[in-house]
Amino acid sequence: MLAVFKTKNLSHLHLSVRLRALARNLWWTWNPESHHVFKELSPLVWRYSNHNAVAVMNEISNQELDARLRDHEFARRVHAVLEEFESYMTKPSTWAKRHATALKNPVAYFSAEFGLHESLPIYSGGLGILSGDHTKSASDLGIPFVGIGLFYRQGYFQQRLNADGWQEESYPSNDPEHLPLQLVLQPEGGRLLNSIEIGHSTVYFQTWAVRVGRATLYLLDTNLPENDQHFQGLTSTVYGGNIDTRIGQEIILGIGGVRLLQSLGITPSVFHMNEGHSAFLVLELLQQELKFRKTREEAEQVVRSKCVFTTHTPVPAGHDRFNSELMAYSFGKFWNSTGLTHEDLMSYGRVNPSDTNELFTMTVLAIKMSRAANGVSELHGHVSREMWKHIFPGKTVDEVPIGYITNGIHTPGWATTHAHDFWNKRLGSDWTEKLMEPKFWKKFADDELATDEELWALRYNLRRDLVEYARRQQVERQYGYSVGTSFATSHILSPDALTIGFARRFATYKRAPLIFRHLEKIIPLLSDTQHPVQIIFSGKAHPRDNEGKRFIQQIIGITRHPELIGKVIFLENYDINVARHLVSGVDVWLNTPRRPLEASGTSGMKVTIHGGLNLSIMDGWWREGYNGKNGWKIGDDQNDTDLETQDERDFERLIHVLSESIIPEFYNRDEDGIPHIWLKRIRNAMQTLLSQFSTHRMVGEYVQKCYINKER
Ligand SMILES: *Cc1c(COP(=O)(O)O)cnc(C)c1O
Repeated sequence: MLAVFKTKNLSHLHLSVRLRALARNLWWTWNPESHHVFKELSPLVWRYSNHNAVAVMNEISNQELDARLRDHEFARRVHAVLEEFESYMTKPSTWAKRHATALKNPVAYFSAEFGLHESLPIYSGGLGILSGDHTKSASDLGIPFVGIGLFYRQGYFQQRLNADGWQEESYPSNDPEHLPLQLVLQPEGGRLLNSIEIGHSTVYFQTWAVRVGRATLYLLDTNLPENDQHFQGLTSTVYGGNIDTRIGQEIILGIGGVRLLQSLGITPSVFHMNEGHSAFLVLELLQQELKFRKTREEAEQVVRSKCVFTTHTPVPAGHDRFNSELMAYSFGKFWNSTGLTHEDLMSYGRVNPSDTNELFTMTVLAIKMSRAANGVSELHGHVSREMWKHIFPGKTVDEVPIGYITNGIHTPGWATTHAHDFWNKRLGSDWTEKLMEPKFWKKFADDELATDEELWALRYNLRRDLVEYARRQQVERQYGYSVGTSFATSHILSPDALTIGFARRFATYKRAPLIFRHLEKIIPLLSDTQHPVQIIFSGKAHPRDNEGKRFIQQIIGITRHPELIGKVIFLENYDINVARHLVSGVDVWLNTPRRPLEASGTSGMKVTIHGGLNLSIMDGWWREGYNGKNGWKIGDDQNDTDLETQDERDFERLIHVLSESIIPEFYNRDEDGIPHIWLKRIRNAMQTLLSQFSTHRMVGEYVQKCYINKER
């Protein structure tokens, strides 16, 4: 089925066929010129489908496409994009060819969510974004790579806030017809079906392939008439349903993923479990090894040599756990064939194998059965070693074999078309290939590349985009889409004001309302007419997290405070698109997690290429990124003892740095209105953060520290 993508065979074919193929490879999402092309074909579908190239191409008949491609200027641009795409796909020299020749077979990367683009909503938050960015960088670097995930027909919910500011969820359906998905077929034709035993049932799944540059992502889907009604919906929502759904999804992901790869004839060089959701894959590998009548120890050793694991959760309660009865029920038939007992099974997921009261923990299974394990920042590595030290009796905390690889972002995918255009002109269009070269980014120190005036114009451009986006959302929300009415929007935000952004999942540890802890201290800053400050929020609370929903409601209440109207705004339905508007438009990105609970955080990394600056607690990635000159810190590199004190102190420090440093620096202008000191900080951030906090650097580290098994 993938033959259709072998683009070099297509070069003789008509542009229209090649363009339709491009719409089905998410490479276009990080190529700004393709955005222009798809948008131009049907601006309306482009907008209403949340920028979905497949939906656009489905809208355009062959007749129309042929006619429009007779416009030479348009055809020339389409041709240029296609040439770029096709040369990317067939490029003989890649980073991997130079640095990862030992990786002959694909890396199999398992994750419960993949956030690749706003038009493919099969992610809930940071974990998914990271998986998507990891996949894109693996493709850019030329690493043989397949992703394994689930196809969520209803995806993650869409958020609406009712008149009381309370979050309401709706689940629109993902129609494969209008998505860049290709049903995986058997060699002889007909859909490829695999199956798994769950409890007493046999559950079948089909698979969809998503092309992400040179990488392929396989999404498993149980929505089939062959399945009992309740298994048909097993993979329908991201982290949806009850504990039975959860374990069922994880069995499909882990065990199903291994079986899928075998049925495709793919023998991975390594199985990477991105978070514990997929850890059941080791049970399938173990079960298969035991069939060769190896001893249990030998089988475990073979499995361990193939697996690596990344943990993301610094709180014990955040880890998936299943009780003995549920495990016995779900795995009864499957595990019987191994000849091992139920207690043997449970022991793999217990810190203390002989403690029969202990639940089965996915993270424990993954740590025990991997040859390498890591957290996602230096501090999180430490927290993880502390949390899981009891798995390794006799080892000190520092000896616990859990390292760290700090997260990054796929910068070309996060840069807006505006930012791409700006940097293409100044850095050359191959700047996106220099993300692993810290030296290259030293150029930003240089006025020659972009003067302060030009950088400041970029900031104004991007800030205005955000302000207009926010105004449009607010107006449409209030008045619907009717045209012909004139709306006054100038009371909503100001394109001149210092703009702070805060957007992330409304998990309570992220403390979205912290900045409003004492309104009497923040209101004077926000309502200063000489030096105005505004804040834009966005984020979803998990559907079952009422405390998170109360946080949203609290922020909505503040947006209605008479002194703050138009100065504090909440944007509904946070997703990749909303995020891109925010991270490009803001001057300052605010991050106030309760230290040390933000394992890494990645949203703050997305502002740098746009000239945004970070203001953050010294947690996760920021305590590695901050150097005193490239942004601001809130508090020090240490924890407070009790939560009340921590909140109170962090609030005081936040107000202090805002009023003493950030606001004065932003409004410190020369006679032409240029804030040179501010811009110097932006230049410093670009030099020090862009290459370090990219997934190119991160994936390179995974290759060297984890994927290439030096012991073998
Ligand atoms: C980047 C991003 C995240 C992750 O942000 P954190 O800083 O890790 O909280 C979550 N959701 C979306 C839509 C994002 O773009």
